[in-house]
Amino acid sequence: MAIVGGGVAGLSAAWRLRKAGLRDFYLVELEPELGGTARGGLLPRSPHPLGAHYLPSPHPECAALELLLTELGLIIGRDHHGRAEYLPSAIVSAPSERHQVGLLWHEGLYPDRDETPDEAAQWARWREHLLALDARRGADGRRLFRLPVDLSSADLRHLDSISLARYLDDLGLNSWRLRWAVDYATRDDYGCTAAQTSAFAGLHHFLARGLEDNRDGHTLTAPDGNARLIRGLATLVGLAHLGEASDHLSRGTAVTALDDHLSLGTAVTAIDPDAGTLELHNFSTKLRTRLHADAILWAAPRFVLPHVLPPGRDPLAANTLSYAPGWSPASSCAPAREASAPRSRGTTSPSRRTPRNGASATCSPPTARIAASVTPAPSSPTTSRSRATTPRPSAPSARAS
Ligand SMILES: Cc1cc2nc3c(=O)[nH]c(=O)nc-3n(C[C@H](O)[C@H](O)[C@H](O)COP(=O)(O)OP(=O)(O)OC[C@H]3O[C@@H](n4cnc5c(N)ncnc54)[C@H](O)[C@@H]3O)c2cc1C
Repeated sequence: MAIVGGGVAGLSAAWRLRKAGLRDFYLVELEPELGGTARGGLLPRSPHPLGAHYLPSPHPECAALELLLTELGLIIGRDHHGRAEYLPSAIVSAPSERHQVGLLWHEGLYPDRDETPDEAAQWARWREHLLALDARRGADGRRLFRLPVDLSSADLRHLDSISLARYLDDLGLNSWRLRWAVDYATRDDYGCTAAQTSAFAGLHHFLARGLEDNRDGHTLTAPDGNARLIRGLATLVGLAHLGEASDHLSRGTAVTALDDHLSLGTAVTAIDPDAGTLELHNFSTKLRTRLHADAILWAAPRFVLPHVLPPGRDPLAANTLSYAPGWSPASSCAPAREASAPRSRGTTSPSRRTPRNGASATCSPPTARIAASVTPAPSSPTTSRSRATTPRPSAPSARAS
């Protein structure tokens, strides 16, 4: 099998194949390193995420992800209710999110300042609606919104045919505050407004892991964000040097390296689905080669696929999908406050690798300002979110971003 793309999707596929006993796969990645949008980087004082920076602990029904986190050594046991217990140094305080109205910053992502009783009632009704959906099971016995999405009950899949904005209209929820908060959520996750997001996808955002304020979850991260998961996955599937990444596996995990199953810095430029061939171009050697495969698994961005398939072979009609820019991450490195603080060069614990007063990463969705400008608000809210990369006992209120 040929796997195109070495992001978390391609590596997860390779992990599943290896677990199924299949080692005969070949992974092709355009960049010189694995990870895609979950890669990390290195600043003088600390590693940092380049894109994906945290993972909410999975819903207990998400067995595959729990298994992966166990193999990666991030789930270290079970409590007496059978709930996963996580490696303490991988847990970070919940994100501190705030929005700006005029010149003032306010906690949270719902602009409640000066709300009317009707607006407050609408917000309460929306929360109750989500709670009810969260508790409900479909006729097939499944939860309505699950990860992966295919495990969701079929009952509400028809909501893919209307927008989330229309769904809110139908519920009579027209408060600009509520619409602004919902719009922020869909822009955050999908890069789309509520009018451009299907009602199923929008509700899935709120409920796939269980309604956030109704669930006893953790936020998992590392100084370089989800790059830690990438390193661990690459090690598990045998595509990384064990010496580099073995600290990310649970004890006793043995993996045979499959170094000759990977091409980095190599683009798949054409696919012939009938012949089962892929044309490869390696950027450093400038060599063009052909790979033969019984099956091809596309784990690169969907919008690239029509460019490598022969004309007319993309199962989706042209222009079915459109893409919006997503997040714009920024990583900054601040001077350490305590010059005498001991610096660790070790790699065993994320908390030791992060200078406590040193680097932090802050991401602000650039679309938040656009959301504000299209909202008929008396004054436009904007948002900011920041998160510390070392575990703390309670949520800090982040003011610098
Ligand atoms: C700034 C940012 C912040 C995010 N924050 C979070 C977060 O905190 N938590 C979270 O869970 N998710 C987050 N996400 C989303 C998460 O990063 C993605 O959902 C996930 O990493 C996507 O993985 P993927 O493998 O599907 O795709 P990608 O990561 O896009 O990987 C696809 C790979 O395919 C390669 N490729 C493309 N074309 C070709 C070709 N022709 N030939 C060979 N290879 C090719 C690419 O180089 C890439 O490595 C964030 C995303 C961004 C951009």
